[in-house]
This record gives sequence, C-alpha cells and structure tokens, in this order.
Amino acid sequence: MNPIYSVIIPAYNEQEVIVESYDRLTRVMKGMDEPYELIFINDGSRDATAHIIAGFCESDPAVVLLNFSRNFGHMPAITAGMAHARGKAVIVIDADLQDPPEVLPLMAEKWKEGYDVVYGKRSKRIGESFFKKVTAKIFYRLLRSMTDVDLPLDTGEFRLIDRRVCDAVNALPEKNRYIRGLVSWVGFKQIAVEYERQERFAGETKYPLRKMVSFAMDAIASFSYKPLKLATSLGFIMSLLGFVYMLVIIFQAMFTDRTITGWASTLVVILLSQGIVLMILGMMGEYLGRVYDELKNRPSYIIREIIRNETIDPIPEPRNG
Ligand code: UDP
Ligand code: MG
Repeated sequence: MNPIYSVIIPAYNEQEVIVESYDRLTRVMKGMDEPYELIFINDGSRDATAHIIAGFCESDPAVVLLNFSRNFGHMPAITAGMAHARGKAVIVIDADLQDPPEVLPLMAEKWKEGYDVVYGKRSKRIGESFFKKVTAKIFYRLLRSMTDVDLPLDTGEFRLIDRRVCDAVNALPEKNRYIRGLVSWVGFKQIAVEYERQERFAGETKYPLRKMVSFAMDAIASFSYKPLKLATSLGFIMSLLGFVYMLVIIFQAMFTDRTITGWASTLVVILLSQGIVLMILGMMGEYLGRVYDELKNRPSYIIREIIRNETIDPIPEPRNG
C-alpha cells in the first residue's frame, strides 16, 4: 500500500540541521494522522549527512534515503525525489527549516479542498542577507516580465502537489529543470499559502553566488526567448543610429567645410557595438550550451544507493483471512 504523503527533502552538507529537521517533520507528519514517507536525497554531501539519515532508516520505516553518486544540485535532487515518491500528495521542503513544516497541515487542507498545487509564497524573508533579498526580488520580477508562463512571484520549492501534477512534471524530458517553473507550466488548479521564510536553523547557504547565477540563467533560458530577441531589437536600433549618422556625415562633407575630427566618437561607437555583439554572442552561447546538454541526454542525477528499512513494513498490508 502506498503512503498518502511523500515528503521530499534535498540535503547537501546539512549535518547541523538534519536531526532537527527530521524531528520537526516527523512531529508534524504524525499529527496529520495519515501514512507518509520522508524521502531524503543526499546530494553528494561531504559531511555526516548521509550517515545521520541512514541512522533514521534503522529505526523509522517511513524514511527513505537516496544517495547520489556526487553533488548534482538542488533541482536534480528534487527531480529524483519526485521520481521516487509514491504518495498521493507530494511535498517538497528544504532541509534547513527555512520552510516551516508547521505550514504543511494547512497545505494538506487546501489539497483536500481540491487544489492540485499548493505553493508556499514568502510573505517575508527572515535572517537572509540584504543582497540575497534584493537580488531575489529583482530576479522573480524580471523573469516574470520575460515569459508568457504565469510564474508566481516570491515562490520557491516549498509546496504540495497532487499525484497527477507530479506525474505530469516527471513526464517532461528536459534536463535543465527549473522545477517551480515546470510546476506552473503544467497548469492544474493552483493556490498560494503565505508563510514567513525563517532563518536557517544552522549551517550556511549552499547557494553561493556562482550557483545563484547559474540557477537564474537556467530559469531564464528555460522560460523565455526574450534574450535572443534582444539581438534583433538592439541590432535594429544600432543600424538605425548608424544610418542617421551616415546621413549627417554626408551632409557635413557636402555642405560644410568642417574637417573630419572625432576619433573619440568613432572609438566609442566601435567599443559600444563590439560590446553589444559580444554580449549577444554570450547569450546565444547560454542557449546553445543548454541545447547541447539536452542533446547529450545524460541523466540529471545518478543514484549510488537507496536505503530504506525493509524489515519493518511502514504500512502493513491488510491481511486476508
Ligand atoms: N541543496 C542541495 N544541493 C545543492 C545545494 C542545495 O540539495 O547543491 C539543498 C540544501 O541542502 C537545502 C536546499 O537545497 O535543503 C536549499 O538550499 P539552501 O538552503 O542552501 O539555499 P537558500 O535557502 O540559501 O537559497
Ligand atoms: Mg535555505
């Protein structure tokens, strides 16, 4: 028999928080009084994270541990969790307790009312750096303005989705997955639940600037063609300006006797246009690289082993006779 709730918890070097996460999640899930499973994805941690989770498995049959062969990233970890989830409702939550598990019963309530996607919307972010808050605000708004998909603002991976939605997203073959975007893209009945994003319980962020930038580029490249179109409009503006300038020069040559000066202006035009050309080439490269990734068709993660306790049956089958 399958559980009702599958909770997906990606974890990368989270040894300082993982016990507390497990305790709080277990308390909340037990309170919901229906069979559940906790799927921890150890995304190639170099600390004791895997060891600690394997310890949970020994005593708790609700825990499943997927051990990755190396660090693949947050999105691949969630993808793996979704592929292994067996529940009728699938929950995604960070391991660091920034998404309070206590919101889950409220999400489940909405699900029972008939919503297929219940996503957490951050009404407030507590204890995150000013830089992170500002860049996140700008990023979500920029992305939204660039795409036709209705991407909700200030929403992360914290959400509950129905089995049907999980299957629909799992069926999408793309490899560079911006999951919150894909969940919006598939549609269904969606609703937000507001929550205050908490401070990290312990440890530090696993999203350094480098990962944030690549994450943002993935999101933009998977959900918008606008950067490619930028080449067309900028090119058009540049040539228009060039044409006008040419007319000016011809006019000067024919009707005035002003000598040709203006090395500076020539240099400015060259530098500017070269800069724009390079920038656009770079953007094309971003897309091309992603096309190449999809073409190679490598899996987005590799699982080294799956650990669960099969000696205790989590949900006993009803016995016949
Ligand atoms: N995470 C992961 N793999 C990574 C980076 C992060 O599985 O390569 C997990 C991490 O353990 C956490 C979640 O993704 O459960 C969100 O990461 P984090 O809290 O560091 O990001 P932030 O909240 O600072 O944006
Ligand atoms: Mg976090």
